Amino acid sequence: MKAAVLEEFGQPLVIQEVEIAAPGPNEVLLQTAAVGLCHSDLHYIEGMRKFPLPGVLGHEVSGVVAAVGAGVKDLQPGDHVVGALSVFCGTCKQCLGQRFALCMDTDVKQPPGQAKRLFRGAEPVSQVFNLSGFAEQMLVHRNALVKIRKDMPLDRAALLGCAVVTGTGAVFRNAQVAPGSSVAVVGCGGVGLAAINGAKIAGAARIIAIDNVPSKLELARKFGATDTLLASEGDVVAKVVELTQGGVEYSFECIGIAATVEQCFKMLQPGGTATIVGLFGPGVKASIEGSDFFLEKKIRGSALGSARIRDDIPRLVELYLQGRLNLDDLVSRRIRLEDINEGFAAMARSEVARSVVVFDGVGA
Ligand SMILES: [Zn+2]
Ligand SMILES: [Zn+2]
Repeated sequence: MKAAVLEEFGQPLVIQEVEIAAPGPNEVLLQTAAVGLCHSDLHYIEGMRKFPLPGVLGHEVSGVVAAVGAGVKDLQPGDHVVGALSVFCGTCKQCLGQRFALCMDTDVKQPPGQAKRLFRGAEPVSQVFNLSGFAEQMLVHRNALVKIRKDMPLDRAALLGCAVVTGTGAVFRNAQVAPGSSVAVVGCGGVGLAAINGAKIAGAARIIAIDNVPSKLELARKFGATDTLLASEGDVVAKVVELTQGGVEYSFECIGIAATVEQCFKMLQPGGTATIVGLFGPGVKASIEGSDFFLEKKIRGSALGSARIRDDIPRLVELYLQGRLNLDDLVSRRIRLEDINEGFAAMARSEVARSVVVFDGVGA
């Protein structure tokens, strides 16, 4: 099968033939239908985080079940599925506490290079994020998959597995945004737009979108932003405090840099909560004003929006089919696997919300 392989950090992906193993116990072989290009893929391509090369990235996926291994009873060939990063074991301490996104079981969540699922002749190829969606086929653990309705379009379904479950999960599961409340979202990429949309669904009255790209702020309005602020123009914190007469109840950091973490904490009203959703490089430190803790300001982390994928993804499908979750405007471009490097270049130029690689005819 064809895959886009990372041979060297900082270099373009190379489209080439890769072999994939047959499904073993608890594994499912998928025909990839669609895969979104996520900013964290770009971080890995650039070498911000490393794994044994060569390897195949891609973790925002949908597909059609082609074959199942022993012990897979909940899926059968022809089923439509979304794949997720938060593959869970179901039996560890974190899973029993319903913190599925924090499952560390290395049987289901194998470090890159450990899973022997992809090969080039005798040489193993790293499966990154336990999915490797930049390929015509995927071999994954059954607990990384969520079966979805067949009337859900697979190109938009792919986005549910990373950006959308993360952004909406931060709102619904982490912050638990209340109706009528005030929200600020810093960073309007795929995750930020999903957080804005989540805040709208949750009934927030004021949703302030903040970014340094004007076209992303325009897009944010389509997802439910009531106000937009261009980060490059003036003091963002002062503007949020002025707009809300004292600060927001909930802020969401969706970039992964220290300066915006600090802004998100500062723009809270007393008692407010900053939820940090962005993915950081190693060693990044933020500093916050200690006296703000006496104002009961809170700061919290979020792993993939604390997703409980088997609950959350089918719910998001329903919200999309009812017209309440906007996925149509999240897909800026549909591209072919061969165009993947240009897709990442467009992302680096901040031109797009999401490019999605679509494999023709799968699930049609
Ligand atoms: Zn992602
Ligand atoms: Zn677990």
